[in-house]
Amino acid sequence: MTSTVTDQRPHRIAIFPGSFDPITNGHVDIIRRALRLFDGIVVAVLQNAAKQPHFSPEERVAIIREVFAGEAGVEVDTFDGLLVDYARRRQAAAIVRGLRAVSDFEYEMQMAHMNRHLSPTVETVFLIPDETNSFLSSRLVKEVFSLGGDVAAFVPPAVHRRLQETREATGGGPRAGR
Ligand code: ADP
Repeated sequence: MTSTVTDQRPHRIAIFPGSFDPITNGHVDIIRRALRLFDGIVVAVLQNAAKQPHFSPEERVAIIREVFAGEAGVEVDTFDGLLVDYARRRQAAAIVRGLRAVSDFEYEMQMAHMNRHLSPTVETVFLIPDETNSFLSSRLVKEVFSLGGDVAAFVPPAVHRRLQETREATGGGPRAGR
């Protein structure tokens, strides 16, 4: 037998679900940490969120793909319906979520318990970002950007460029819902 233990290890993937409207340095931080724990991360963009997004799901997928271009461990997909059904379909070992502060905790606990009830074999793994990213949210980035603030320090360059393009396209006004 020439195969090694490494050859026989199952390919363990984790799903990182979210709105990612748009992806921020906080999300990238969590994805990079998760890549140290899992063989692959599927960044799963929620299709049918009730909110009025800035970027369409297709735009968000394209942006995230650009951010992780050439990185074999990161796949970008969309999903709708129950997250645990998607996780099962993808044979994921875990769902990854980020915890910024106590304010995230209650909602995340509720979701994790509900998902465990729905699918006892899928674990939820919480990762904590670097403290410099812990105050960041997509909502805040959009708010600051829409008021004319500079958000370059908080998002990957691909996001910053797309935001600038939407500003040029709308003449600085709000973007129509997608
Ligand atoms: P959702 O609509 O599901 O909250 P988000 O795109 O806002 O989607 O967030 C997806 C995941 O990323 C969530 O687990 C959220 O807590 C986490 N997250 C968002 N921003 C940050 C950040 N700055 N640092 C760490 N985790 C974050």
